[in-house]
Amino acid sequence: MLDFLVTNARLVTEREVLRGSLGVMDGRIEGLHPESAPIPEAAEVLDAEGRYVLPGGIDDHVHFNDPGYTWREDFPHGSRAAAAGGITTVIDMPVQNEPTVDNADIFRAKEAYLAGRSYVDFGFWGSLIRTNREALKGLAEEGALAFKSFLSYGGSDYTNLTIAEARDRIALLKEFDALAGFHCEDDAMIRAGEETALREGRTTAADYLAARPVEAEAKAVADILGILRETGGRAHICHVSHPRVAELIREAKAEGLRVTAETCMHYLLFTGDDLIAHGGAFKCSPPLRDRAAADGLFAYLADGTLDTVCSDHSPCRLDEKDASGSKGMFGAWGGISGVQTTLAGLWDYTVNRRHASPTLVARVLAANPARIFGIADRKGSLAPGLDADFVLLDPEQPWEVRADSLAYLNKFSAFVGTKGKGRPVATYLRGKAVFDHGKFAGEPRGRLLRKAHA
Ligand SMILES: [Zn+2]
Repeated sequence: MLDFLVTNARLVTEREVLRGSLGVMDGRIEGLHPESAPIPEAAEVLDAEGRYVLPGGIDDHVHFNDPGYTWREDFPHGSRAAAAGGITTVIDMPVQNEPTVDNADIFRAKEAYLAGRSYVDFGFWGSLIRTNREALKGLAEEGALAFKSFLSYGGSDYTNLTIAEARDRIALLKEFDALAGFHCEDDAMIRAGEETALREGRTTAADYLAARPVEAEAKAVADILGILRETGGRAHICHVSHPRVAELIREAKAEGLRVTAETCMHYLLFTGDDLIAHGGAFKCSPPLRDRAAADGLFAYLADGTLDTVCSDHSPCRLDEKDASGSKGMFGAWGGISGVQTTLAGLWDYTVNRRHASPTLVARVLAANPARIFGIADRKGSLAPGLDADFVLLDPEQPWEVRADSLAYLNKFSAFVGTKGKGRPVATYLRGKAVFDHGKFAGEPRGRLLRKAHA
């Protein structure tokens, strides 16, 4: 007899939507049973009433700041927000961690510290900074899922790499099949843009947008693609903001380069005009672009150029978003909170508004990130033997993001006021509910996921 059975569901895999039941045994998926087959017996049965059941979301890029800058976010709040939003795995950045995760000892210390602090499973990005070249192999062996690097200023405590250093590290990581992810904006271009703007006292939102042009992002991506062509190494392009950048990646994939890429929900929904109209909550980098860019990214999601959609959940305290200081918008904290709203937003953007199949959501928010980050042996699909991480989504339920519905430590977000239809109503981690119709369930059981080595 099975432990648990979800019946009368529309089961979403990356290939098809199947009417039937999902069986769970010992925290893992036992099987998918089509409507026509006999219904297996189970100790507990949940009637999904025709709702969709999707694989638990994998948000491959979050900043939970813990241990570190925990006035901005922490794991207890961030992971609850993830659970409420149908995300069952987050891959946490080493940026704004104290200490940053730049060697295997710190990796293990972060794992120990987070015991009992997360409501969802999690993996770690390791640091890829100027000073930790010798520690990268140890971090990879310890289980870091990928390594994060900036090609432009990454904060006073997180040194960026020059292109020459990036080339060296990509070649090095290739030796042990590790993945580097890059924040791509050309350092010289955006530094010059900011310095000139500040010198001339041009510090509005529009000035900030103009100082970080698409050209800077495209140039940095082209530099990385050139390194891949030369070295045969791998890279993941973080937060692609514009179709012009996506087009470079499409061509690189066609050429056979080993590149993957993500975009974020905010680039699909918002524009630079939102930053101008509503202020710092919409500040991020690369910055928001225009409406044609936001709409144009869909084609690159649909054709597989953009492999994943993530939140780049990067919160702060409300006063850090203040743009009234001497540096204006340049002085406001950059980052948008979104881990709780990514799945609902993506469903509405793709399935409702663009008539995409729900399989697209399963692909870019579960199957693809699982494969790219080396956890597909446990996560990312409704498939027998994998962890029973899944989410019930009610396609008819309208929603509006309200500040008081956010589980974040700091309850504000650019997404407040966003409306749509179709939302996660229950989230299951390894066969047990972590979020159920507005209520959080159970203790924080989240575990660290180490990279599976082939
Ligand atoms: Zn980030």
